[in-house]
Amino acid sequence: MATGTIRRKKTATKTRTPKMTFCWGASKTEGNATQKQLLGGKGANLAEMTSIGLPVPPGFTIPITMCETYYSEGGRMPSGLEDATVKAIRQVEKETGKIFGSETNPLLVSVRSGAAVSMPGMMDTVLNLGLTDEAVQGMIALTGNERFAWDAYRRLINMFGDVVMGMEHGVFEHEFSSVKKKYGVVLDTELSATGLKEVCLRYKKVYRRHVGAEFPQDPHKQLLHAVEAVFKSWNTHRAKTYRKIEGIIGLRGTAVNVQAMVFGNMGKDSGTGVAFTRNPSTGEDKFWGEFLIDAQGEDVVAGIRTPKPVSKMSGWNDKIFRELIAIKKKLEKHYRDMQDIEFTIERGKLWMLQTRSGKRTAASAVTIAVDLVKSRLITKDEALLRIPAADLVQLLLPSFTTKSKRGVVQLAKGLAASPGAATGALAFSAADAVARAEAGEDVLLVRKETSPEDIDGMRHAVGILTSTGGSTSHAAVVARGWGKCCVAGASALHINATRRTVIIDGRTYGENDIFSIDGGTGEVMLGEVQRHEPKPSTAFLTVMKWADQRRRMNVRTNADSPEDAKRARLFGAEGIGLTRTEHMFFEGDRILAMRRMILAETKEKRENALARLMPYQRDDFVGIFTAMKDLPVTVRLLDPPLHEFLPHDHVGQKEVADAMGIKIGVVKRRVEQLHEFNPMLGHRGCRLAVTYPEILVMQVTAIVQAMIMCKRKRINARPEIMIPLVGTFEELAQLRTLTLSTIARVTAKERYTGKFNIPIGTMIEIPRAAIVANQIATVADFFSFGTNDLTQLTYGYSRDDINTFLPQYLEDGILVRDPFQTIDADGVGKLICMGCEGGRSVNPKLKIGICGEHGGDPISIEFCNTVGLNYVSCSPFRVPTARLAAAQAEIRKQ
Ligand code: ADP
Ligand code: MG
Ligand code: MG
Repeated sequence: MATGTIRRKKTATKTRTPKMTFCWGASKTEGNATQKQLLGGKGANLAEMTSIGLPVPPGFTIPITMCETYYSEGGRMPSGLEDATVKAIRQVEKETGKIFGSETNPLLVSVRSGAAVSMPGMMDTVLNLGLTDEAVQGMIALTGNERFAWDAYRRLINMFGDVVMGMEHGVFEHEFSSVKKKYGVVLDTELSATGLKEVCLRYKKVYRRHVGAEFPQDPHKQLLHAVEAVFKSWNTHRAKTYRKIEGIIGLRGTAVNVQAMVFGNMGKDSGTGVAFTRNPSTGEDKFWGEFLIDAQGEDVVAGIRTPKPVSKMSGWNDKIFRELIAIKKKLEKHYRDMQDIEFTIERGKLWMLQTRSGKRTAASAVTIAVDLVKSRLITKDEALLRIPAADLVQLLLPSFTTKSKRGVVQLAKGLAASPGAATGALAFSAADAVARAEAGEDVLLVRKETSPEDIDGMRHAVGILTSTGGSTSHAAVVARGWGKCCVAGASALHINATRRTVIIDGRTYGENDIFSIDGGTGEVMLGEVQRHEPKPSTAFLTVMKWADQRRRMNVRTNADSPEDAKRARLFGAEGIGLTRTEHMFFEGDRILAMRRMILAETKEKRENALARLMPYQRDDFVGIFTAMKDLPVTVRLLDPPLHEFLPHDHVGQKEVADAMGIKIGVVKRRVEQLHEFNPMLGHRGCRLAVTYPEILVMQVTAIVQAMIMCKRKRINARPEIMIPLVGTFEELAQLRTLTLSTIARVTAKERYTGKFNIPIGTMIEIPRAAIVANQIATVADFFSFGTNDLTQLTYGYSRDDINTFLPQYLEDGILVRDPFQTIDADGVGKLICMGCEGGRSVNPKLKIGICGEHGGDPISIEFCNTVGLNYVSCSPFRVPTARLAAAQAEIRKQ
């Protein structure tokens, strides 16, 4: 019986029309913070703030589902939405005691977008909506301030024209200037009420001319147009670009928030501000932000006027300042995280307009996470999950040394908007920055201020420098999110973007000049300044310790030199997962010996040449084993095809011939012999060792001798030999035998009697190897998934040529992510699973790891953890990322 009732109820809900508005206010609040997927982040948090008793102007949210419906119905407003908004407005009227469009007591609203994930600056807000020729009279009656009312009206017509109707901003600007001229004033604020009234009249005229209709005098019409504009803004180019760059996928649209206006521009006792409950750069527990007196809306963020720091606020209004500090505490306790807030003060009364979890640098994320654990607001596991693992790379980024700064010409000082140190030539437009960066140049993007259109250029630049705007300007917020160095508001810079010059102190600098900017201090310096490696903070070390306690997988590094090995060890690497040997052959005299070996016509000559190479290799290994003493070092035997070591141009070939005292014809012939149509699938990897066993013998000899030399110096060297590109059991069986006999011969010859164990394993990078892993594992001590080649061969994509089609594939959604950056769990991942199962079925103790780009990618690391790998190996700078990601993966598993 009971079940039957419930079932009947469910069907009933299904057929009912979906809820089209969710209101918040003193008498009733329908949403909460958990509903971001439905109400968007902004809407959900406005409701939540209202519920916990914070002063929030009332309003309502049109849920994301309506935006979805708008698109699924081919860009038509969902039926019923108009009635629902009229009803919801009535509720706001009740809450505020004001009437939409009233001649005596008008309600004005803002129309704000808000997706589930915050997309700062991506979609525009319309303020003062509801003003009409009649309502403006109402505003005058209500406020007794004629100037203010006309100013609000002209702002609305302008914004509505811009944002909703897509008019050029310039046409309004033009009218405004000409009225100012007529009245003989320079500043906007000097224009009288009469002047502003005239501006409104002119604005309505240009509006009519451009739109082909009157500026709507029905506030409900205005509202519907604005709601539709928000829906439309979801799919604008800049919104899409932002989502692409940020890797935001799977969102269904934006919500629309309609909220009663409060005014920060009603005089000296009013203002507006943006703040973080803690310092977003350093994480310091200090209220941090900026405010502007007598200002409305986005004036702070837009960087038009330079705001004051909130630390100066008590001098202006101590009561408000203290109220904000109390709200900071309440919000942090409630959300258990640092918040980014927007607020407005209308005639001495504080209103909250937004809260969300604040974007922060990696340094700040680490500090805040540790502090919140200390104050018992979150657990260690929560703290670990809150730090974006990939961002830890930022903490290892270089900064300028104090010493190297001495004697450098200081050009200007701006705000330390986003930490880091960057040196580059000046680019004055986003397009230039992109083009020059793609050509390989390090450029600084130098702009008066940035806007979402500049995103691509900002991304490509090594650093961002602006002349106006504060620490919460667009440039600063975006740069911090990326961990890119940014100096904002360096007001000494006079930038002329068209001429591509900047004048500082009367001196002109152009595109070819090099500046260095310090995002930690705000300094702008001439020329290149030396940088140094960062020192990890105590909070960072604490987080790493917690991560190490939590993770199951080991983290190794890919390193080909003692320097890289040392650095990686400092970052916490627990061994080397991949040492490539080929690069060792390119240095100095070695390349000559290598070429002699390749050009040799007989085995004997080849062995002679190899004998000359051996000591070099051995000494390299001694260096690496020493740097990694006590920890495993996986050495991969020669992998690339031999022709990569020979020059392909005439001049180069002549040089080789001369150096070796042979004819150039011999070199040319050999190059031709070695030519392959498909080198990636050609004579490389273990195939080289099968056809030229003496190469393997030389390399194994070098490894074993190096190990013995270390051991005799009481350095515990732990080499592991890895044979690449194996596809069949027979390949590995044969090469394993040869490796073992070589080890035996070298130890006998060296009369080495100490204990040692050199595991011999293979890379699994050919799909067939994964499929027959149960056979291969009988002759392997370990597997390491070489996911670069494995991805390449599984998809049949050439990694080196993928850019001819990858961008389009990503655009069209054929691929969601670049499979060379993040493991393709469905395909390549299945092969990895197969490899693990097959391998362990015959060799339960088989050690399995991964090397290649994926080893440092958090999503791929989570995958590795799930399928039970023993370790991941990544580049040195990624090691802390991998340690944290491995811990996060383990936490999420439970
Ligand atoms: P964004 O997502 O770009 O931050 P918002 O919707 O937060 O856009 O709006 C931008 C600014 O407009 C806010 O920071 C606030 O200053 C102002 N604003 C929005 N709604 C109101 C309102 N109801 N009253 C006063 N100002 C508002
Ligand atoms: Mg906006
Ligand atoms: Mg906002």
